[in-house]
Parts: sequence; C-alpha cells; structure tokens
Amino acid sequence: MPVTISLSGRRAVVTGSTSGIGLGIARELARAGAAVALNSFTDSEDDHKLAADLAAEFGVEACYIRADMSKAEDCRALIATAVDRLGGCDILVNNAGIQHVAPIEEFPVEKWNAIIAINLSSAFHTIAAALPGMRASGWGRIVNIASAHGLTASPFKSAYVSAKHGLVGLTKTVALETAEAAITCNAVCPGYVLTPLVEAQIPDQMKTHNMSREDVIKNVMLDRQPSKEFATVEEMGGAVIWLCSDYGAQVTGTTISVDGGWTAL
Ligand code: NAD
Repeated sequence: MPVTISLSGRRAVVTGSTSGIGLGIARELARAGAAVALNSFTDSEDDHKLAADLAAEFGVEACYIRADMSKAEDCRALIATAVDRLGGCDILVNNAGIQHVAPIEEFPVEKWNAIIAINLSSAFHTIAAALPGMRASGWGRIVNIASAHGLTASPFKSAYVSAKHGLVGLTKTVALETAEAAITCNAVCPGYVLTPLVEAQIPDQMKTHNMSREDVIKNVMLDRQPSKEFATVEEMGGAVIWLCSDYGAQVTGTTISVDGGWTAL
C-alpha cells in the first residue's frame, strides 16, 4: 500500500535551498503540501523564479528570501521574514553548507571561520529564532543536514568535520530542550550525493587520476560508500518529510544516515 505523507498546512524554511540537496528537500516538502521558503545569499531572478516554479508545480505557497547564513543577523531575519511571508515556521531545515579541503597547517583562517559560521552557527541562530513560534503553536520539526562527516572524519577537512560534528551535538541538545513540547530535532547525515557541486568535480578528477568518469565515481568518489552509488537529493527529501510527518513524532535527538553504508564501515 503506498504511504502518503501530507504536510499540508505546515510552513517550512530550508536554508541554502536554491540548488542541490536543499532544493531537493524543498521540492519534497512542497510535493507533500507544505508551504516553502527558499533561501540563498544571491537574490537573483533565477532564485525568485525557482520559488514561483515550485508554487506552480505543486500548488503550494512558496517564496524566496535572501539571507547570508554566515551572518547571525541575517539568519535570525530569515526566520522573521518567513513568518511574515508564510504566516509561521513549523518546519526548519538547516541545509546551507560549504566545504574547503586543506591540511590543517595550511587551512586558511577565513575558510575555517566561514565554514563554522555557515555550517554550524547558522543553525544555532535559526533554531533560536524559530523555537518561540514552534513552542507557541505546540508543534515543530527541526532537521539539520549534517553529513557522514558528522559521525566520522577524513583528513584535510578539519573545519567541515568539526562543524558537522558540532551540528550533531547541537541537534541532541535542542532535542532535549524541546522533548516535552511536541518539537523534534534530528540530523540527516548524507553520504556522497551527486549535486551540481559534486558533478563539477568529476572532470578534474578524471584528469588528475587519468581515469574514466565511471572509474572516478566508483574508485575515487565512492571509495568509502559501500553501495558504490550516489545518494540522491530525493532520498534526502524523503528522509526529511518522514521526520516531519506524524511517523516522526517520537524520533528526536538522533541521526539518520543516508550514506549507502559509509558509517557501517
Ligand atoms: P550546494 O553547493 O549544491 O548547495 C549549497 C547551498 O547552500 C546553495 O543553495 C548555496 O546557495 C547555499 N549557501 C552557501 N553559502 C551560503 C550562505 N552564506 N548563505 C546562504 N546560503 C548559502 O551543496 P549540496 O551538496 O547540496 O550541500 C547541501 C548540504 O548538504 C551542505 O550542508 C553539505 O555540507 C551537505 N552535504 C552534502 C553532501 C554531498 O555529497 N553533496 C554530502 C554530505 C553533506
């Protein structure tokens, strides 16, 4: 029997949602009937069109809100604007994230600061801003998009691994503070997902390793992903809407890995 999840009547904010995983999650939330606020820091015509297209395709309310998630005041203003535009914020998905790869001795301080700000501190600010409304309405769902790197480490990713482990810690803390308020807080931990960002790295890797596209994907990128397949943005969206549904009411303070077996190794 097909299971249908309806989030009709819920209002969702997804940070960093004009591409990749965030957009995939926003699409699944809209497909399930939620009103959605998209976000990035660019404020382009394309950004606003994405929201209009989402509204037309799924028959839901959708808007685009510019906010730079590296800035505390922008993070808090994003929630206030979403509440103004959509009438509330019942679902908050903290997805915005960046990466930088370098040995720790050479890791640029400004990259460390940006990764901690965007991948970790932004969630602290949005959660703090969204919780009073969730508590007042007596319902809420917070989903933080961490990573397999929130549970395990890789060399040369000191800031990313630290931020994602921190995000998992924040998730558990918020879950305990909200446990009696019908609000849940969880982290989804993706393995490798073929987003435009990852796709763009394939040609360089082919050159560097003198390998075919297939070999780069299987033996370089998916080296640590036992399924040898990328996870998809739709699968991330599926995990999120399940957590946001009534099925997820008692799931809180935990991590859901969608990583083809990476963290089982
Ligand atoms: P992406 O680059 O396609 O998307 C990142 C999004 O964040 C974009 O919409 C971008 O506009 C936004 N963003 C970046 N800086 C921002 C800022 N300062 N303010 C507002 N928005 C900003 O990347 P993605 O692969 O879809 O990654 C999304 C999330 O999933 C990230 O948190 C990432 O760490 C996590 N993740 C990705 C993978 C993967 O394999 N792609 C694996 C594990 C975790």
